[in-house]
Amino acid sequence: MILPKAPRLTPEQLAEVTDLVAEFGCKIQPILGTIRAIYAIVGDERDELMINRLEGLPYIDRIDRIQSPFKLMDRRSDLANGRLRLGGITLGEDLLVIAGQCTIDPKNPRYFHETAHAVKEAGANALRGGVWKPRTNPYAFQGDVRSLEILREASRQTGLPAVTEVMELEHLNLALDAGVPVLQIGARNALNYSLLRQVGRAIAGRLDVSVLLKRSIHMGTLNEFISAAEYIVSFGNPNVLLCPRGTQPGLDGYRNHPDESITPLLKEKTWAPVIVDPSHSVGKAAYVPACSLAAVAYGADGLVIESHVSPAHGIGDDPKQAVTPAALAELIRQARALHALRRPQPAAVPQR
Ligand code: PEP
Ligand code: MN
Repeated sequence: MILPKAPRLTPEQLAEVTDLVAEFGCKIQPILGTIRAIYAIVGDERDELMINRLEGLPYIDRIDRIQSPFKLMDRRSDLANGRLRLGGITLGEDLLVIAGQCTIDPKNPRYFHETAHAVKEAGANALRGGVWKPRTNPYAFQGDVRSLEILREASRQTGLPAVTEVMELEHLNLALDAGVPVLQIGARNALNYSLLRQVGRAIAGRLDVSVLLKRSIHMGTLNEFISAAEYIVSFGNPNVLLCPRGTQPGLDGYRNHPDESITPLLKEKTWAPVIVDPSHSVGKAAYVPACSLAAVAYGADGLVIESHVSPAHGIGDDPKQAVTPAALAELIRQARALHALRRPQPAAVPQR
């Protein structure tokens, strides 16, 4: 919809606009009100170049888009008819809980193995463990490829599918070779379009692999978040999970600004499951249970929670953020009870 600055376009302006949209296969339908006119773009109005050229015309106030900018991630896309199964549950039916350490300590693998068994016991469906870590300080521990084997072994022993972050092509290839079924794209890379494309391309034919896409720390609109997922899905694999994890600037006292409340807004726009990360949102173990329950109340399909058998002996975020397995078990019990109170989901649809 084109809104001109003046109450209506002059005949010359209308002709210019009509010619411009015709280059993109569209037509103009004027809608004449008594006070002002607006001009509908009839056709596929998603072409960025067309919109940019229209917005560049000096007599145009703005363009309001009616069509969704995403083709595949849109709620009305055919992909909305599929459901993903992960960790023994069907997303959209049961609550998915991913839990485990922020960071695997390659010098103390015992902790990760104990944590893996403990989170399983607590009721988690999948096991997270950071092998490579994005760190603000270049001298801080950056992760270690040796942790990949620790993750793989813990996953094998517990039967919980592994989740780990990849930041570059080398990590991606190593993680896929190791059979990691859930690749995390972290908050710092959520807008790294080259990485999104590499991941999308690498998993195109691999319906056994999913991507947990975090919301960027500085991400503005929800469309920006969903469009990042569209980059991955456009290669052909629809197994993407959207993960709000808090944004900057943080709320005084919390590490970030908790954003679980965007869950219903995401669900109005897209079919993708929403898996909230309360650990990075609030950044302190004591606040994680409340944030988890808030996320479930808002309609989240799952949670990803940092947990450690001995947080004080953890590295990365674990000393401050990780909940103990006992706290995790109680949190999961309450979260599942709350989830069960929510309106029943529509009847089961085919699984992927
Ligand atoms: C993490 O999961 O440990 C992590 C670094 O996440 P984020 O990208 O959300 O900061
Ligand atoms: Mn972390």
